[in-house]
Formats: sequence, C-alpha cells, structure tokens
Amino acid sequence: MEVHVNQIEKRSWIEIDLAQLKANYLIYKKKLKTDADIMAVIKADAYGHGDVQVARMLSWCGCHLFAVSNIDEAVGLREAGVQGEILLLGYSSPFYAKTLVDYDLTQAIVSEEYAEALASTPFKVKCQFAIDTGMNRIGLNGDDSEQCERIIRHYAERLHLNGMFTHLCVADTDTEECRAFTWGQINKFKSVAERIADLHLPYVHCCNSAAGLNYLDGSEKFDLIGGIVRLGIILFGLKPSPETILPEGIAPAIAWKSAISQVKDVYPGETIGYGRTFKVERKSRIATVTTGYADGLNRHLSNRGHVLIRGHRAPIVGRICMDQTLVDVTDIPEVAMGDKVVVLGRDGDLQYTADDMAEDLGTIGYEVLCTMSKRVQRFYVSSNSSL
Ligand SMILES: *Cc1c(COP(=O)(O)O)cnc(C)c1O
Repeated sequence: MEVHVNQIEKRSWIEIDLAQLKANYLIYKKKLKTDADIMAVIKADAYGHGDVQVARMLSWCGCHLFAVSNIDEAVGLREAGVQGEILLLGYSSPFYAKTLVDYDLTQAIVSEEYAEALASTPFKVKCQFAIDTGMNRIGLNGDDSEQCERIIRHYAERLHLNGMFTHLCVADTDTEECRAFTWGQINKFKSVAERIADLHLPYVHCCNSAAGLNYLDGSEKFDLIGGIVRLGIILFGLKPSPETILPEGIAPAIAWKSAISQVKDVYPGETIGYGRTFKVERKSRIATVTTGYADGLNRHLSNRGHVLIRGHRAPIVGRICMDQTLVDVTDIPEVAMGDKVVVLGRDGDLQYTADDMAEDLGTIGYEVLCTMSKRVQRFYVSSNSSL
C-alpha cells in the first residue's frame, strides 16, 4: 500500500502506516486455525514502530494482552493510558516490586531464586513462570516437570500467579530436526501445564508469530497451552525467517525516508568519503543523502547497500558517515537537491524492506527495525481512511 504524505519533509524520517499494522493483526488472527487470543509483543518500542501508538491502535482492534521486555517499557505504556495485561518478558530487579504492583504489571519469573526474591518483598506481584523447554535462556527447567510443579505450587500462594509460558527457538525453521525439537518443547511445556491444570491459570502460552502459523493446529495437543499466541514480527509485516511465507496481505508498515542535500559530478580517479574506499571509474553523479549510521543506517552497508530514488536503485558508495551517506545516481535521470530518498519502503515499482536490508547485512529484519535510531522522527499515517 502506497502512503501519500506530502507534508513531511525532514532530514530523515519514518512513516508508519497504522492501517497496514491493523490489517496485519486482523489477517494474522484470521489465519490462525484456532480462535486463540493474541498477545501483542511490543517490546523495543514495538520493534521500532512506537509502542504507545501501536498499543493504542491494537487496543482499538480489541487486543488486551501486551508483552514488553522491561519495566521502563511497561511503565511508559501505562503512563500513556494503555489498559489490559502487560507482561514483562525479562528480568526486573526485585527492587521494582512496588512499581510492578502500582502499575498492575505482570512479571515473568525467570528462576526459582528470582521467585523467592520477589516473594520476599512486601508486595504480591502479578507474575507468570517462564519454563525453559530447550532454549536455555530463562525459566524453570522444563525437563523436570515434577520440580516445575512443586515450585509453581509453592509460589502460586506467595505471589499473584496468573500464568506461565515458554519460548520456542526454532519454530520458524521447517526442517525435520527443527520440527522434532519444537514438538519436544511443546510436549515438555504441556506436561507442566497438565500437572497444574487445577490452578486454572488464565494465561498459559507457548507460540510466537511463527509457531502460531506453523504449529498451532487446534488439535488436543494444544489444549491448555494454545489459547494465546505471542505475536511479534509478523505484526510488523516481516518474516521470522527468510523461508517464511507470510499470509497474503501482511506487509511492512514502515517506510524510512530521507532527502538529497547535494548532487555533484565526480571524475575518474577521485575517491568517495572517509578512508577513500570507493574509487570512481567513470564520470559519476554522486548524491549526498541526509541519513547516516547515527540514524541507524548500518555502516556495514557501505559500498554494499542501496537506497531508492525516483523509483530506481542508487548504490551506496564509500563509507556511510554518521549523518550522511553518498550514493551513485549516475544512471538515474534528473536527481536534484530536495529529492526524496527511500531508505526502506516502496518507491514506484521497487521495494526494499527491512528483511531485504537484513539479507544485505547478514542479519535479521528484527535487528534492522530495532536499530533505526530514536532521532529519526516517527510519523503516523493511514493508507486507509477508516482509521
Ligand atoms: C520477542 C518474543 C516474542 C515475539 O517473537 P516474534 O518472533 O517476533 O513473534 C515472543 N515471545 C517471547 C518470549 C519473546 O521474547
């Protein structure tokens, strides 16, 4: 969907299409084979999209479960008036027990030791146990479901326990080995859930974006554990892994744009930028783009990446600078000062997504989104007038 925003003219800015985000949420929800609830994972400022704006839009769509990474993100959402459950997926110092209660936040319990520390404060914190089923990051050891049960029962009384979850680490990869591993994780999690079924915890969940599509099948395997999907990357229209086929209609909601400050001729034998890493071999037109690595344009794209200008690709030449980047526009007619540059997004028939940039960088779209810096102002637009 093309967004027309004629008013915005900055050095470097991001346009976020809320209607596309809404479409992503609704399409994903419809694509699920069960009527599982969606917990929107809006950590890291909603993967760079602005957590408050995204939470407000999703609340409007009926979403009432949110997850973030830490207490600052959670408090920020509450202070902005976001209602519903907010789960902190990672550690907060027990020092913040009062804040967790005051803001009605739900804390992930990362270990027995941590449960004890939280339970030893004067505050009865809302919480959910993390169960480690094979990722070896956080949680009680899911290999020993009996011990998980003992610990959970003990703290169910001393804390305000309302759920438990695990995280699947290869649900996005469709090989026999990964599928077997993922089913192993799901089964371990389910054995713990069965042992404590009598506690009737309302929030028991194991699926991320990828697992919601690839595993959650409505079968009895997901009784007790399949009622909630934690939706992250697909909400933002990107792929959990390069081989993922996204449901039709789900697309990135972000466009990162910039401008051209100067265009000049450069002659054979001259070099471009710091370190003189690009040597000009033909008479060239070089444009200066007003975005650099301080904006989040990864310096590893130097002499490798490209931007879109006037519907054409313009290769990045020389090293990306802190605030500026040089691109070769020799083959693009009539490029001039003030022209719009698409760093991420669509321009004419071409599109360059965070997933494409990630491929050029040897990373994942998640990282590209999270590293667009705060100094790049976000603007909220809607390609669809109903929002
Ligand atoms: C980030 C995160 C998610 C969301 O993962 P996506 O791959 O973006 O869907 C879900 N659960 C946990 C525990 C996470 O840390």
